[in-house]
Amino acid sequence: YDGATGTVTPTIYERTTAAAMRHEAVNLGQGFPDREGPDWLLDLAARAVADPQVGPPNQYAPGPGLPALRQAVAADVDRRAGVALDPEQQVLITTGATEAITAAILAFARPGGEVLTFEPHYDSYGACAALAGAELVGVPLRGPDFRPDVDALEAAVTERTTMILLNTPHNPTGTVFSAEEMRRIVDLAVRHDLRIMCDEVYERLVFDDAAHPHRTILSTPGAEQVAVAVGSAGKSFSVTGWKVGWITGSATLVNQVRGVKQFLSFSSGPAYQHAVAEGLADDRGFFAENVAELTAGRELLHRGLTAAGLRAHHTEAGYFVVADISPLTDLSGEAFCRLLAEEVGVAAIPVSTLTIRHAASAEDELQKLVRFAFCKRHETIIEGMRRLAERL
Ligand code: PMP
Ligand code: GLN
Repeated sequence: YDGATGTVTPTIYERTTAAAMRHEAVNLGQGFPDREGPDWLLDLAARAVADPQVGPPNQYAPGPGLPALRQAVAADVDRRAGVALDPEQQVLITTGATEAITAAILAFARPGGEVLTFEPHYDSYGACAALAGAELVGVPLRGPDFRPDVDALEAAVTERTTMILLNTPHNPTGTVFSAEEMRRIVDLAVRHDLRIMCDEVYERLVFDDAAHPHRTILSTPGAEQVAVAVGSAGKSFSVTGWKVGWITGSATLVNQVRGVKQFLSFSSGPAYQHAVAEGLADDRGFFAENVAELTAGRELLHRGLTAAGLRAHHTEAGYFVVADISPLTDLSGEAFCRLLAEEVGVAAIPVSTLTIRHAASAEDELQKLVRFAFCKRHETIIEGMRRLAERL
């Protein structure tokens, strides 16, 4: 957004989806499933609209969220990570994870301060830091496997730093931070008195949980003093349009975020919250089915990209494969994505647009990375890969 001219530049996701529609391209850009969430969950939401028990279902919900959903989130965290949360004090329901992220950054960043994150990073982090009058400072994930370099993170801390933004499982690289990496990051936040917002929207989309287990940051020793964790029903249940999210942590930190949320949206839609509460309590096998479906989609995409001559990275979790285009072309990621949409009929996202430094240097290895989404029906992915094979 340019305040001087009042011009809004749509996000890279919107631009990519618009370009995909314009060129009738297969949309492997924006990360949303092109199939519906589970029928039973959709039915629950539809019925909740007319259910006086959800109540009232079509007027303002309680600001912090429906009690049933706060209890379901707390029970889920306890079941999966052994962390007991008081649903009244330690769980806040938000309008998508996006609002939780915004409210946390507005609560913990300071005008003139710095906010640290690993890059590439989710696009709203920089915009929200700017809204808070702070500067987002990026520390690159270390190649070739995109691991977090905790020493580099600590070296980037200055007296102006107030906050760290983590995202694990990570968009776009699919990295799941290890327990040891999380322990070291929490330890440095405690030592430097920094707050952490940990964006865990892909928490249920881990492909090999034995090899790369994800546990909420709240299970890391010391985290209760410094960290809040963010979740998303949109990602967990493949209903990204519902915009139901949550944030968890100590009563003190969650209360600070709640103070901001009440003036962003005040409250979030009750019927969707009701359905999500029931879904979290009993997912009827959906989470496992979804992981199996995504695992197969990931294989299709990985194989197709490799066959087309790109160097596709292994993805531990989430919706995306990141591929290095340098074995194939001298073009930058941005130029390659333009060519893909316009001439090949496939939309993807240049990773350089998910970094702070993207204008910095043409030599930067991130300039050569492109993100492809596999949270799509298998026939969508197969058609995309067919076009790459025939037209690239
Ligand atoms: N964080 C990350 C890392 C994401 O990829 C997304 C997009 N799905 C969000 C947050 C936003 O989540 P929601 O749709 O629940 O607002
Ligand atoms: N999270 C999705 C992605 O990374 C898109 C979200 C959005 O469009 N804001 O593609």
